[in-house]
Amino acid sequence: MSSPPILKVAVSVPLSREFDYLPAPGAPNVGPGCRVLVPFGRRRQVGLVIDKANQSEIPVEKIRRCLETLDEEPLLSDEDLWLIRFTSDYYHHPIGEVVATALPALLRQGKPLDPTVNFVSITDAGESMDMESLAKRAPRQAELLTVLFDAGGNGMDEDALTELVPDWRRAAKGLFEKGLAQRFVARATEPESVTTADSEPGPELHGAQRDALERIRERPGFGVFLLDGVTGSGKTEVYLRVIKDVLDAGQQVLILVPEIGLTPQLVSRLEKRLGIAPAVMHSGLTDLERLTAWRSARSGAANLVVGTRSAVFTPMPDLGLIVIDEEHDHSFKQQEGLRYSARDLAIVRGKQKQIPVILGSATPTLEVLQHCRAGNFVRLELPERAGGAKPPLFRLIDLVRNPAENGLSNPLVESIQRHLGEGGQALIFLNRRGFAPTLICASCGQVAECERCDSRMTVHARDGLLRCHHCGAARALDVQCSSCGAEVRPLGEGTERLEDALRTLFADRRIERIDSDSMQRKGAIGEALELAAGGGADILVGTQMLSKGHHFPKLTLVGIVNADQGLFGTDYRSAERMAQSIIQVAGRAGRESRQGEVLVQTAYPDNPFWDYLIDGGYARIAADALAEREESRWPPFTRLALIRSAAHSKNDAHALLDVARDYIAGRQTEHLRVLGPVDAPMARRAGRYRAQLLLQSSDRRLLHQVLHDLRPLLEGNPVARKVRWSIDVDPVELF
Ligand code: ZN
Repeated sequence: MSSPPILKVAVSVPLSREFDYLPAPGAPNVGPGCRVLVPFGRRRQVGLVIDKANQSEIPVEKIRRCLETLDEEPLLSDEDLWLIRFTSDYYHHPIGEVVATALPALLRQGKPLDPTVNFVSITDAGESMDMESLAKRAPRQAELLTVLFDAGGNGMDEDALTELVPDWRRAAKGLFEKGLAQRFVARATEPESVTTADSEPGPELHGAQRDALERIRERPGFGVFLLDGVTGSGKTEVYLRVIKDVLDAGQQVLILVPEIGLTPQLVSRLEKRLGIAPAVMHSGLTDLERLTAWRSARSGAANLVVGTRSAVFTPMPDLGLIVIDEEHDHSFKQQEGLRYSARDLAIVRGKQKQIPVILGSATPTLEVLQHCRAGNFVRLELPERAGGAKPPLFRLIDLVRNPAENGLSNPLVESIQRHLGEGGQALIFLNRRGFAPTLICASCGQVAECERCDSRMTVHARDGLLRCHHCGAARALDVQCSSCGAEVRPLGEGTERLEDALRTLFADRRIERIDSDSMQRKGAIGEALELAAGGGADILVGTQMLSKGHHFPKLTLVGIVNADQGLFGTDYRSAERMAQSIIQVAGRAGRESRQGEVLVQTAYPDNPFWDYLIDGGYARIAADALAEREESRWPPFTRLALIRSAAHSKNDAHALLDVARDYIAGRQTEHLRVLGPVDAPMARRAGRYRAQLLLQSSDRRLLHQVLHDLRPLLEGNPVARKVRWSIDVDPVELF
């Protein structure tokens, strides 16, 4: 007689292993991809069956039984499980936590795939209600009833209602009592990909677009294509044609976009051109909305999915194409917990599925460029701007000769005046939010610092607060120096200060500030960008939120207020990053009939960086940086992994990394270099001391083997209990 099957279950705990269970009573056929409810210690946990086995290291009589089987059919296919396992192996991260990242919250919590939901809808009596008279007596109720009226007979689920009318419950009580609205429970429906009106034909493709399209079409199966084109060169048109091919062939398409690139603008463009409303997946959805989108992708009902980072894990049985727009964007790499790169996983997924993957960028990362050089990826250049628009004209403003007041030099102010006078729109870019980055005492020079971090507090004048941008700490804005009592003043500029200065200089103009402070409300960013794109603001001032893929037809001037932040950066990626952000924001200027102008304020106009950038564009900076990396053996010519550790005591933070270093030292070869442990560049953050250990290797396999063996060693070390630690494979930030 064969022994009973043993389930290998992934449970969301920070341990790099699966746990053995016996199937729940009466459910012997539960298999990989199904969720189970298991006893775990003294708790109950939702787990995912990863595999079945006939043996266990634990004696069978000691193996605990699942309490319940949550899915009769596997939730995830073998392919989906393969990706989860790959992610866990590659990033050396516990598989249970990978599952937790891959599943929507409601499924993580054990809810069924088609949960029942509370709905609220208008009744017949409500529909015939005289709104005006209700509005006089009970304005809140009238407001809610209007929302329900617009929602129609099927009503709205409670989560969605909360998004629209946060305090709807009180008003609803009155409406229920009067019989104007009702509450009912129903299964959430699964939306099909709605085919909207006929798709609009696109513009005629220009030569380079046609070539790119042909190169993609002529190579079936797996291939990675880089669409390397300046902003406005028409990358999206090429995506759209390939997407249409794949949809017409009855397959699904996944489009990954940066965190704040998923705008109503993009969704409506896809809808118009493809005749399909895409299923969207991003962090702003309610749990139910997210589950619904996930479910229709999984069943194949949605054939077009647009999402941010974690959408890379969405099950799509008929996946035929993955597009990653703005592949250089940092938001594709998760910076906490499971530190995965959605771009890299998308490529892995494309290879597994043998389908094309298209990366798009005006400023491709050096990793991707190097893959193109090595012949692994196909580089397709789109050099010209669609419709013959000219590239923007760059000009440097020497801040030494033209000192800035409140961040704005005279030549910049004059240019703004000129462009607005000619009916254009101006974008003033500063990647620093708040009013000023520093509050300093005019008498003793003391600077307001965060008590929990090695950092300065940023002045937020609108809120009357000092905020730490690293730990979120906030306190009332000092009026006098805490040390000598003299007057304090804000030093330097943030976007708030720029906004104030612009309002004073251009009192009769409409000015819109766009940064994460002014755009906190859900949907605010979309509205502001629509307004800006429609010409409803004359001057836009903001952070890199403004620089991503938005189309502002009237914009003719871009002013870069402080371009020097990256010139002398300590990170090996500083130059690459600064060039990316300047080119991206510059790309907003002059996209239609008029040539744009880009003014860059710098105190170092003689730095060769500027010549390279202005004469050779991003390609020149990238070629230069690649040569330098090859010389110094940094990525993409070597691989990195960073082990971070943070603890209340500096000793503990270092102690765990010492263990790691000692272990690796025993296996060190010329192909594996260990740097550290050292204090992190910001040694104290949010009250914790931070240290790090960097591993650098020219041999990827060796690096991964070492990390694979190291991980359980660190998990089992007693110091690990006092330390927050993580392994970051292919880190993009070295702190
Ligand atoms: Zn802080």
